Amino acid sequence: MTVNVGVIGVGMIGQDHIRRLTQVLSGARVSALTDVDMDRAKSVGQGLPGEVRVHETGQDLINDDGVDAVVVASWGPTHEEYVLAAIAAGKQVFCEKPLATTREACERIVDAEVAAGRRLVMVGFMRRYDDGYRAMKDVVTSGDIGAPLMFHSAHRNPSVPPHYVSDMIINDTCVHDLDIARFLLDTEVTAAQVLKPRKNSRASDHLTDPLLILFETASGALIDVEASINIQYGYDIRGEIVGEAGTVELAESTRVVVKSDGRYGGRIPEDWRERFIRAYDLEFQEWLDAVAAGRSTGPSSWDGYAATVACDAALEALNGGQRVPVSMRDKPDLYSSPATGAGPTGTD
Ligand code: NAP
Repeated sequence: MTVNVGVIGVGMIGQDHIRRLTQVLSGARVSALTDVDMDRAKSVGQGLPGEVRVHETGQDLINDDGVDAVVVASWGPTHEEYVLAAIAAGKQVFCEKPLATTREACERIVDAEVAAGRRLVMVGFMRRYDDGYRAMKDVVTSGDIGAPLMFHSAHRNPSVPPHYVSDMIINDTCVHDLDIARFLLDTEVTAAQVLKPRKNSRASDHLTDPLLILFETASGALIDVEASINIQYGYDIRGEIVGEAGTVELAESTRVVVKSDGRYGGRIPEDWRERFIRAYDLEFQEWLDAVAAGRSTGPSSWDGYAATVACDAALEALNGGQRVPVSMRDKPDLYSSPATGAGPTGTD
């Protein structure tokens, strides 16, 4: 079966996902597009194979009979409206992170899915599809290192664009570290604190960089996330779990080590697209296969909700300086068992 996909938002990642759907993966066709910038949507549509309808609104696209499933890649505050509309239309929806920008909006999505009686939403937490993190998860699950006690994570960006503000370090950048920590440790965040080291002199005046974010969890394990967004040397993602009897850490992402002239070294990725390119491909192929088979898969609305409430607490801690407890509603049964066909990603 070929899945007819409608894409809402054809900015940077929307266009990258369209390239993936049309040139890299199998089983999909992009049949419809929309963007607040209609000229951009039309110009992206013109470069695609077959008939591509360009709609004036996301609602029109979702209601298009020629759209089997929806990708939401527009600006975060618009996600709730489109995800709710897709659930109401009974169509599966891949929503880029964040699921929604407020706790209340995420709860409305969870409530709508529960009322629909089935999972229709997958959230774009692509790190769960990264080979390195999957291997870490396998080690934790095997019991070889004993119960996890700590997860050290580092998210280092060479630089950030001018529109980037300090809150984005938490809810745009480190939300990925938080989600992968929940995935690896299989626990929920219960409190957040944020420490501010001496400022990087290369950071713009309006940025608080770097940050050290501490999350407490229900299992008692601690998560620390170093966020450095002007580190210059490359895009470097690090992670290590310390267990009761051993440790497991991400290896360097370079494929080869070059030894020459008395030194050894390897390539550091330029940005997230390069570092996680295979993970994005795997997450989308799994979503397409699930849509074609009428199954749900991947990180759920519950995962999106959990990430948003934990980030909210960290933002409050960043701006107020104190330790902020995290409160979560009870998890609906819909999210208590792994998504059907979710493979190693479906740890709701
Ligand atoms: P972007 O380049 O600004 O693209 C967003 C696009 O959506 C723009 O074309 C924007 O138009 C359009 N848009 C805004 N409001 C809309 C609406 N109401 N209806 C339809 N289109 C609308 O941003 P991006 O970097 O691609 O990010 C998009 C989403 O993906 C964000 O939620 C972001 O957090 C997420 N993301 C995820 C990852 C990941 O690693 N998983 C990486 C990057 C981005 P204008 O430009 O005219 O506003």
